Amino acid sequence: MALKIIDTCVNCYACEPLCPSKAIYKAEAYFLINPKKCTECVGDFDVPQCASICPIEGAILDSAGIAINPPGSLTGIPPEKMAEAMAELQAH
Ligand code: SF4
Ligand code: SF4
Repeated sequence: MALKIIDTCVNCYACEPLCPSKAIYKAEAYFLINPKKCTECVGDFDVPQCASICPIEGAILDSAGIAINPPGSLTGIPPEKMAEAMAELQAH
């Protein structure tokens, strides 16, 4: 039972101090979660603290590999609208 940070992490340092289990550490390229220490915050908080502060959609996965903050969940921009906007930007 552990969450996972993936390589889209932008090293903002927001999550590390919030972890009640001291499971988050800075690795060479980005932050990681020690799966042996992560409790998914059970017993300390109602929601995983790292995922609740992380500003990057999709950077933190649950134990099933599913993004806790999926695309659109933080920006409020539906993924298909974002894809359209990016395509338009790239066309210019
Ligand atoms: S889910 Fe909780 S215990 Fe696990 S890394 Fe995130 S903040 Fe730490
Ligand atoms: S809050 Fe998110 S982006 Fe910031 S360091 Fe943690 S995982 Fe990386």
